[in-house]
Amino acid sequence: MKILTLNCGSSSLKFDVIHTTIEKMQRNEDSSLVRGIIEKIGSNEAIVRFKTHHGHDSKVKMPVNDHKEALKKIIEILTGDNPKILSSLEEIAGVGHRVVHGGETFTKSVVIDSAVKEEIVACSDFAPLHNPQNLIGIQVASEFFPHIPHVAVFDTGFHHTMPNYSYIYPLPYNIYQKHRIRRYGFHGSSHRFVSKQAAELLGIPSEKSKLITAHLGNGCSITAIRGGRSVDTSMGHTPLEGLMMGTRCGDIDPALILHIMNKEGLSIAEADAMMNKKSGLLGISQLSNDLREIEDARDKGHEMATLALDIFCYRLKKYISSYMGVLGGADALVFTGGIGENSCIVRELATKDLDFMGIKIDQSKNTMNNGVLGKYERPTDISASDAKVKTLVVPTNEELVIARDTVLCIEKLL
Ligand code: AMP
Repeated sequence: MKILTLNCGSSSLKFDVIHTTIEKMQRNEDSSLVRGIIEKIGSNEAIVRFKTHHGHDSKVKMPVNDHKEALKKIIEILTGDNPKILSSLEEIAGVGHRVVHGGETFTKSVVIDSAVKEEIVACSDFAPLHNPQNLIGIQVASEFFPHIPHVAVFDTGFHHTMPNYSYIYPLPYNIYQKHRIRRYGFHGSSHRFVSKQAAELLGIPSEKSKLITAHLGNGCSITAIRGGRSVDTSMGHTPLEGLMMGTRCGDIDPALILHIMNKEGLSIAEADAMMNKKSGLLGISQLSNDLREIEDARDKGHEMATLALDIFCYRLKKYISSYMGVLGGADALVFTGGIGENSCIVRELATKDLDFMGIKIDQSKNTMNNGVLGKYERPTDISASDAKVKTLVVPTNEELVIARDTVLCIEKLL
């Protein structure tokens, strides 16, 4: 089956066509035919980028007014002759959509019908910046592909196994009862994917594994996984809680928000923007939210870039240590995401002095591939030979999870 996956943001549309079947996914033999992104949708200078599995690489600027036009462009790419990707659109057997928030309703991926759409709308209250965009993607794709199944894969889905003492905030309980305010967690597809890959690499059945997975990208979250099930995760009701991120502050004293609003005369929207868009690596370094730039500046002695990286790694180390306690030890610590897969400095600093709890990396394995050759192409063990807890770098593939779930839902196996 060829599955089109779509990840619809406010001004972007990411796509991938993945060739997979139940047999292929069991043997890890499913593959991407083409993947790409259209950015700056709504402008005359939208950027259309894609790369095929044959290595054809394309990047052009053109006007793209809205998401409908963007999908039309994607369909042109898929059905064009240069390069040839599909013989016809009929080859697409299903469309998998990333949906950020599934609330308490969606614990796994589902075939989209009108009732599902209504529930996704209802969950928009929890993710006002994301769910409405995801819905636009579903709407537009349904117009172009009206006769094949569409499946929603939720970022929150994997975390529904958390116990109540992990997801309930110690606020008055009626806040949860009235508004369903609780920890939901995000990056679920990524945590699920890399934990499965890690268990396979370790040769441990997923049901018996204890893993800590750190997804470190522009957004960062870390999850404690016991027996293949999420038991705690650092992001909360929103993707703001937890680790320090590119532009998000992560955990802070909750009283500070009101205090800063008062001191700085900030509106709710301004306070929200401060915590989500002006904090994190960018806020401390005053330089960039991009870790590569922070690392370069740190190498040149930039004081605030050094501090930004130190805070980032220190906070990550605190979470790793606390999840070791949550799980009562772990088989492996897994790094993934743009930072987790590529930054040897972050992996080094975040695991420094943790050998007392069994975590110890081998520096030569840690620095292998870093930057120069780009990503670790496959799951790699970077632990020291005497480490009790393995440290792994596992490239994530959220699109593959979406495509696989789409097939499983179509086959009614999920
Ligand atoms: P993602 O959201 O997963 O695409 O990750 C984006 C983050 O990964 C950004 O902070 C990038 O700076 C970081 N990143 C990507 N490549 C590298 C690299 N080679 N070294 C350090 N950080 C990187």
